[in-house]
Amino acid sequence: MHGYTGKTLIIDLSSGKVTEKEMGTQSYFEYIGGLGINSKILLAEVDPSVDPLGEQNVLIFGVGPLVGTLACTANRTDVTAKSPLTGLLGTTNSGYTWGPELKFCGYDHLVVKGKSQSPVYVFIDNGEVTVLDATHLWGRDSWDTIRTIKNELRDKEISVACIGVGGEKLVKFAAIENGFYGAWGRTGLGAVMGSKNLKAVALRGRKDVTVSDPDGFLESLHEMRERIMSHPTYNPWRQFGSMLAVDIYYALGVLTGYNQKEPLGEDFIESMGRENLLKYKKKSIGCTACPICCAHWVEIEEGPYKGLKLKGIEITSTMDFGARCGIRNLAAIAKATELFQKYGIDCSTAAGSIALATELFQEGIITGKDTDGLELKWGDEPLIFELLRKIAHREGFGDLLAEGPVEMVRRIGKGSQEYLAQNRGLETNSRDPRTRWDVWSFGFLINARGGDHLRVQSPAENLRESAPEGEYFYELSPPEKVVARIDIFHDWKQEIFDFERNTVSIPHMAAWCQDLMNIVNSLGICIRPPVLHSLGPTIYSRLLTTLTGIEFSPEDVRKAGERITNIQRVFNFKAGEKREDMKYGPKFYNMPIKGRRLDKDKVDEVLDEYFRVRNWDPKTALPTAEKLRELNLGKLGSNLAS
Ligand code: SF4
Repeated sequence: MHGYTGKTLIIDLSSGKVTEKEMGTQSYFEYIGGLGINSKILLAEVDPSVDPLGEQNVLIFGVGPLVGTLACTANRTDVTAKSPLTGLLGTTNSGYTWGPELKFCGYDHLVVKGKSQSPVYVFIDNGEVTVLDATHLWGRDSWDTIRTIKNELRDKEISVACIGVGGEKLVKFAAIENGFYGAWGRTGLGAVMGSKNLKAVALRGRKDVTVSDPDGFLESLHEMRERIMSHPTYNPWRQFGSMLAVDIYYALGVLTGYNQKEPLGEDFIESMGRENLLKYKKKSIGCTACPICCAHWVEIEEGPYKGLKLKGIEITSTMDFGARCGIRNLAAIAKATELFQKYGIDCSTAAGSIALATELFQEGIITGKDTDGLELKWGDEPLIFELLRKIAHREGFGDLLAEGPVEMVRRIGKGSQEYLAQNRGLETNSRDPRTRWDVWSFGFLINARGGDHLRVQSPAENLRESAPEGEYFYELSPPEKVVARIDIFHDWKQEIFDFERNTVSIPHMAAWCQDLMNIVNSLGICIRPPVLHSLGPTIYSRLLTTLTGIEFSPEDVRKAGERITNIQRVFNFKAGEKREDMKYGPKFYNMPIKGRRLDKDKVDEVLDEYFRVRNWDPKTALPTAEKLRELNLGKLGSNLAS
């Protein structure tokens, strides 16, 4: 087999049994790899009604066929399990070296089942698997854990995925740290790892990835590289990385802050805009095989955080702790980054819990009696860092925050539900659906993992202007010559774009780009704009065919993305998510911002049209029997009927 190793490693921590399973060519053809195969395994192995922190949940690490090759940005690993935070399909993606190393160990997927009696860590050395005692690592932060494992195994080059104290304490939004500076952050899968008493997975591999048609593959790689490096977003992304978008969104007037309570003012952009990054940035750094290198090595040379050196200051942490919690100092964002990485908790939900608590405190719904005597204020750096510590250790008030915002308001009551700025259990970033309605904000409703912003992104965004207020079915299109370069099939372009009206159909584009992002996360490459906006199913089919020797047409690739969307929805339905649960947090419907709030009836009309585009039943949000048969998923239909 070329491209793929063809093997899945299964470790049962209850029985101690280690087995391997061959994955057939048909599975790769239908689900590509990475997220796609992970989703297939989850649906097959896990009863969607199980307790996410019980022994029956499984934790799946998966890399795509491009990982471990020279393909640009082919370093991503998707981790999948039932989420303890949302109760839905949990999936989270990260880069660096861990994914390629899994491939070099001889595996495409690692499935961890059961629960160890005591803390352990797994070492996979070029295909040889050892389960080692981790009692001495339990209680240590993630950086200390990684350093200790590298020393113990006497190899600084080993790639380590581990949990911090947050995962051990089953914080509902615990992350799995990916080396010192990356993380599988969203949906709380660090808690699933902690529930299995699994502290870390360390990898060292030397096996080759073979290629079916080396000349053809190299030719496709050149085209891939050329497209990425000639895309207009390439150079700005090299300089500013994700911080590029802070100023763009601010200029559009779409950012909101303080638990999405009000628009952000000039003080925000003056202190948190992208130029401020350059005060601290020493160099660009990147993941394996990436020509973009969008990340920043930063050093803080003065002030209270003097001496701090790390990879950090991204738009996500800036929005989470800057916009949402009120910090106005990028050096403090770097400090927050150090803390949430060491504790092993997701920055977005951690900030979501803190921001919600702060708003509830200011509204008098909770008081010092609830907060261990702490007076919650916006932008109070030492207080926010103390709350992060309390969350990670589930200490006092931190025990409530560690449950995440949805459970917090359920326990607090007293009308706190109205302040929830989460969608289907997850935070959006601070690009607010009330201030800009588009494919991205509609995506919060249909994203399989909950309402965040990273799984439904359009490759054709107009970032210069927004559609008129009150328009729900369309966003504005970029110029026709820009659209001409985007790899969207002709028949889809005709449904999506109307160049006379200069519009993009939100339901059609949402379906296209949701499937596209499933493809990207299944191939094992990055979703950053220079990649997402410049590539599509046509070049992906050539890369796959020349690499693996399995004949993929562009339509086969698109259909694989659609198939993944469909099985993810089936999992979520079986986990209990009904059509009526597909809605925004109450704040977005009930509390206006700049005089605007979402109209639930109009949102539901767009959702119904999206279901029609997908050939799903609008009452259940489930694929019709016809759609399942078309995707070779007919058997799922009979299961659903029963
Ligand atoms: S673009 Fe950034 S996040 Fe993506 S692979 Fe490259 S360095 Fe990693």
